[in-house]
Amino acid sequence: VGAVRFVNEPVANFSRDDVRVAMAGAIDQVRKQLGQRLEVSKLNTHLPTGADVRSFNPAQPEQLVGIVQSYLPADVAGLVKVAESHAEEWKHRAVAERVAVMRKAASLMREQRWELAAWEVFEEAKPWREADADVAEAIDFLEYYAGEMEQLDPPPRLGRYPGELNELFWSPRGVTVVIAPWNFPLAIPAGMVAAALVSGNPVLFKPSERASIIGYRLAGILRQAGVPAGVLQYVPGGPDVGRELVIHASVATIAFTGSKDVGLGMVQAAAVQQAGQKFVKRVIAEMGGKNAIIVDDTADLDEAVTGVVQSCTGYAGQKCSACSRVILMDSIHDAFIQRLADAVMSLRIGAAEDPATQVGPVIDGRAQKRIREYLEIGRREGRVVVDRSMEGPGYAVGPVVIAGIEPTHRLAQEEIFGPVLAVMRASSFEQALRLANGTTYALTGGLYSRSPRHIELARQAFDVGNLYINRSTTGALVGRQPFGGHRLSGIGAKAGGEEYLKQFMVARVVSEQT
Ligand code: GLU
Repeated sequence: VGAVRFVNEPVANFSRDDVRVAMAGAIDQVRKQLGQRLEVSKLNTHLPTGADVRSFNPAQPEQLVGIVQSYLPADVAGLVKVAESHAEEWKHRAVAERVAVMRKAASLMREQRWELAAWEVFEEAKPWREADADVAEAIDFLEYYAGEMEQLDPPPRLGRYPGELNELFWSPRGVTVVIAPWNFPLAIPAGMVAAALVSGNPVLFKPSERASIIGYRLAGILRQAGVPAGVLQYVPGGPDVGRELVIHASVATIAFTGSKDVGLGMVQAAAVQQAGQKFVKRVIAEMGGKNAIIVDDTADLDEAVTGVVQSCTGYAGQKCSACSRVILMDSIHDAFIQRLADAVMSLRIGAAEDPATQVGPVIDGRAQKRIREYLEIGRREGRVVVDRSMEGPGYAVGPVVIAGIEPTHRLAQEEIFGPVLAVMRASSFEQALRLANGTTYALTGGLYSRSPRHIELARQAFDVGNLYINRSTTGALVGRQPFGGHRLSGIGAKAGGEEYLKQFMVARVVSEQT
């Protein structure tokens, strides 16, 4: 089989008039559709019995984006039964057919590109560029995993021993639960769901309650592309529904992206053998980070300032890849902080609907409150350099920079998931690396440097899943920067990388004497 070279979906160029007009038009269209009820019965046969989930615009908390009825824990057994009853049918579909369905879903997303991004603007308060990038990444995941699955079929012959034929077959593990976050509301669930589906598993997809509307659209696109009803079920609901899904005896694989505490809870719950359970459940968990960028004494400070500001304030810091610590070497410490402060002061804070907005509000009132509590802690631990926390519409928390943070401070150790940057100081590069590595997380990291020795040291010893040298730490591209961390940042293969798909399958080796 000739490997089709994977190429990333290009992101939109909003400096072009026609592109801006298209996006503005989609925003107007979506605004007219806000507040509607979405019928789960269009996607699923086993219907929910829970309360309505109401999704609001974080920039205008009284603006209802949509309503969808949610499931209750008591509904889960019925959903799993439906999944099981469709497992064989989907497993025995030709790989080429499942691959074609994923490619069809990607092309439907291309057609609905502006509209999907516009829904993210309203439901998630994602600024235009980032909403668009999320849609592009969702398309990438669909295409990439489709291409990867093609590579595994037909099975290759192993070794060349005369008289013996050895082959390795990949088959689906079985019922897969996907529990997705709201911060990349299309791309992350599309990746997890597509990987599970293309490799032949039935999927129960629980979107975050704060991304129920986008989740509904994703499920709709996959159904329209040809995924049968019971093979993919859309399961809106709260954490209690997620828990019930994880502990069900018939669930083989759980793919999760979210916080460390929830992820560890799943690892624990999934390890308990339930009556009737026939396998060890596999949990793939992509969790948090406390990511650092080191700026050394040889760095181009203009580039470093831009990269740090982007990495920290992009989507208001609500990315697990976001930079939340900057480690400055002594000789550039004061100059860097001055430039950083100017850059942060010049950021445009506003509602995501406005194309000029660089920093929008955070996702909800709970997040806003949590971030403000961390700011109180930060004010006690360090020295505030810039504080724009009270600016912006809705659930806004503008960016804040706090200097003088020491390794033992909470601001140096705990993930905040907001635009709060802790500044730390190092007297040598070796100390900077120790500080960078001095948390329980290992997700992303960055280095701004022109010193070959420092760059080499970082390559070897900056212990993160994704290290970025002289660029920002967010926006990993499918296929080019497979994404994921280790230590308490997660368990499982990198998303958008070669190993990812195999986690949803079992390998069977057949050896025949000929
Ligand atoms: N893959 C995203 C990035 O590189 C982060 C994903 C996440 O926040 O879970 O920025």
